[in-house]
Amino acid sequence: MHISVVGSGYVGLVTGTCFAEFGVDVTCVDNDARKIEALERGKIPIYEPGLEELVERNIRGGRLHFTTDLKAGVEKALVVFIAVGTPPREDGSDDLRYVDEVAEAIGRNLNGYKVVVTKSTVPIGTGERIRGIIQRNNPNGVRFDVVSNPEFLREGSAIEDFMHPDRVVIGADSDQAVAIMRDLYAPLYLLETPFVITNVASSEMIKYASNAFLATKISYINEMAEICERVGADVHHVAKGMGLDKRINPKFLHPGPGYGGSCFPKDTSALVQIAGEHGYRLRIVEAVLAVNQERRAAMTAKMHRLLPDFSGRTIAALGLAFKPNTDDVRDSPALDILKGALRDGARVRVFDPAAMETSRPVLGDERVAWCKDAYDAAQGADLLVIFTEWNEFRKLDLDRLKSVLAAPRIVDCRNVYDPEQMRAAGFEYLCVGR
Ligand code: NAD
Repeated sequence: MHISVVGSGYVGLVTGTCFAEFGVDVTCVDNDARKIEALERGKIPIYEPGLEELVERNIRGGRLHFTTDLKAGVEKALVVFIAVGTPPREDGSDDLRYVDEVAEAIGRNLNGYKVVVTKSTVPIGTGERIRGIIQRNNPNGVRFDVVSNPEFLREGSAIEDFMHPDRVVIGADSDQAVAIMRDLYAPLYLLETPFVITNVASSEMIKYASNAFLATKISYINEMAEICERVGADVHHVAKGMGLDKRINPKFLHPGPGYGGSCFPKDTSALVQIAGEHGYRLRIVEAVLAVNQERRAAMTAKMHRLLPDFSGRTIAALGLAFKPNTDDVRDSPALDILKGALRDGARVRVFDPAAMETSRPVLGDERVAWCKDAYDAAQGADLLVIFTEWNEFRKLDLDRLKSVLAAPRIVDCRNVYDPEQMRAAGFEYLCVGR
């Protein structure tokens, strides 16, 4: 089988590469010529553990190809995945302009029956919209099916998530399309991965409902953390006690600066919008969004408790990505909070193991020092803030850190350290929910 994946970003590149690894002949298409040129040389434009080796291996195996030529990509393929970005618009709804562009181009270049699959996260009803766009651009009436196949991978563990998903969701209205999708996913099917076969609208909804639920868990434990701080409870013990209940499950019960990244903030806002368009107010998800937004101010307030006036003072930041093991800084709490500190006159010294290049256009260079490691960032700082729990920040040499900081003050937004140990080591130390 030959497939094409249009959009070679975090999702498209992993999808295309993993299908190639399953033995499928894959063409990854992107309209960013620089990206495609790098990929053809086996260089990946993002940080994703294990992906570069997999890309190289499948290029060498002749199963993975890259092109900017969407026409060529579409013509060869039986299945065409749409995996372009769906960024948020000002009002929180998803911007479907890239999806529309690709659907139009697919319509113009249909040269035989194809299954057009939406991998991008798209509002409910987009499958129908894509069908309409392709039909209008397909004067010869070539037959095609539209399928929804949302992606649940997490950046940082994307390959493992793709290869061993909890489930594969397929939304389709045609038996032929379902059979082709099952065939494509056969290696997972044989591993007994559960498949949810449903209609297109339900499949599109599953993605938003899942992400909004996970975001709800995060905002929920963050609110519990607020109460824990006020009543002398330890949110980690509370989360453990809750999570051992199988109905609750321990995942996504980690307090912190709130969720960020390219999915949860966008998908929760979009779901509120979608509900509104259909005359329903989604009060729970609205509250989740509001709580999440307040987390950033709550972290800044903690920083102010240790350093009341930021003006002219130096803040060291460990971690810029919205979570470890990625260079993705889209809607990262760290960058938002640091931009606020810079506006208040602070100087910042920053270090992230993977996200320096992606953060630079956001923070700029004025009063920002781009450091080579955690100790370099801490050099002469009046306050150190741990924003992202990269493993390399978990076992810092505390004596060395204390000796390079101008004052031993730490705000640990991810609860990486033990408060008692930190206080015993002579730090003024604040963390979350304990
Ligand atoms: P991304 O920005 O990393 O990648 C999108 C790619 O599409 C870019 O390389 C861009 O150049 C390309 N593109 C845009 N218009 C194009 C066009 N007309 N023709 C060809 N290529 C085009 O985005 P992403 O993070 O991979 O997300 C893609 C979709 O998957 C989004 O809808 C997102 O919500 C969803 N999603 C993302 C994740 C994640 O963890 N990043 C997880 C699940 C779902």
